[in-house]
Amino acid sequence: MTYQNFSRAQLQAIDSAHHLHPFTDHKELRGAGARMITRAEGPFIYDSEGTQILDGMAGLWCVNVGYGREELAKAAYDQMKELPFYNSFFRCTTPTPVLLAAKLAELAPANVNQVFYGSSGSEANDTALRLVRHYWALEGKPTKRIVISRKSAYHGSSIAGASLGGMDGMHSQLYGAVPDIVHVMPPYSFELALPGESDHDFGLRAARAVEQAILDAGAENVAAFIGEPILGAGGVKIPPASYWPEIQRICDKYDVLLMIDEVITGYGRTGAWFASETYGIKADTITTAKALTSGYQPLSALLVGDRIASTLVDKGGEFYHGYTYSGHPVACAVALKNLEIIDREGLIDRVKNDTGPYFAAALAERIGTHDLIGETRAIGLMGAIEIVKDRGTRERFAGGASGDKIRDLSIANGFMVRSVGDTIIMAPPLIWTREHVDMACDRLAKALDSAE
Ligand code: PLP
Repeated sequence: MTYQNFSRAQLQAIDSAHHLHPFTDHKELRGAGARMITRAEGPFIYDSEGTQILDGMAGLWCVNVGYGREELAKAAYDQMKELPFYNSFFRCTTPTPVLLAAKLAELAPANVNQVFYGSSGSEANDTALRLVRHYWALEGKPTKRIVISRKSAYHGSSIAGASLGGMDGMHSQLYGAVPDIVHVMPPYSFELALPGESDHDFGLRAARAVEQAILDAGAENVAAFIGEPILGAGGVKIPPASYWPEIQRICDKYDVLLMIDEVITGYGRTGAWFASETYGIKADTITTAKALTSGYQPLSALLVGDRIASTLVDKGGEFYHGYTYSGHPVACAVALKNLEIIDREGLIDRVKNDTGPYFAAALAERIGTHDLIGETRAIGLMGAIEIVKDRGTRERFAGGASGDKIRDLSIANGFMVRSVGDTIIMAPPLIWTREHVDMACDRLAKALDSAE
């Protein structure tokens, strides 16, 4: 039985009867039904009616090498035939997670040389949270338990991930949040900078909210600060240049570990292997997933810095933590091939020196001048536009639904984007050329024009 035997309407009816979707209002879904994406090639996705859509979200920040890569299918096939699964528990492992760990240690910043695997970013952040608390206990400072995060952060949907995250809609308290997690303001200058405040000063002020939280809690009680280098799902909020150096200074001063969540930014998105490099951050843990396999297999890798790893290994005993699929051999085989492709095709250099700057300029010049746009921002191939009613005052439309409207118009014009409130966000595959940037801007501009 294959899906080709079913019409779109039949698939939608079955979907509605049996399938609970993530982050979806099912009452809304019942009306129009879900969009059925049935195949994809290069930078394009196709729905069940054969409509071609330029994918501005790389699936869900995942498909950095684009769709339809036979090499990745072959890597999975070969590994499945050889050894589809064996675990890495109890003094066993298999070759591909070993080789991938070495590759990741080579690519990661110099102080990061160990890897703990999972299947998702949420799992990796659960691991990171347990690990930093474990570390402080092993170091004889068990009171250091509090983790400071930011509002608008997204760190996953597991109980720990949701508790670490700070997006309003996650309502982690409702489900029973993990205790000892504190949230401070995000570096979101478009809405939070004071009149006349420079970008530089705003960045310092936002970072010092972290310092204040440390002082309020007492440094002896604070384990770590967690942050995405660029707040992604919370609206591609790009921090001022002054922000991360100040965060680093504060964490060093109070001996607070730095947990960097690169689930979105890892593996090339900002024009470097990791955004930690882009911002010069010295992380104690780096959470990665998504583009590690370009989404072709579910896999996460928590990259662990030497400071934590040496304590864990030398003083730790058994770390009571792990997932059946930690180091899944097929997912790791796909990741190795995916990293080889990114490297071989020079995708990161292209983002850094060509498509990234071109994307930022195109958004500013061709979209940023529109009456409905209050700001455009981009770094590498990651960008956002702010929808406003009034460019001068940055007043928003009542009800905050304009983002969804522009998103729907954009998709109808053949360009897939995502909305977060009144912000439209984009993170296309890294294989995009300047022609794809132009195509995206044409389609987005058309969507904006038709919204007026
Ligand atoms: N961290 C960040 C920054 C993310 O963007 C996401 C997912 O979008 C996650 C963690 C959670 O990853 P997953 O959905 O694979 O659990």
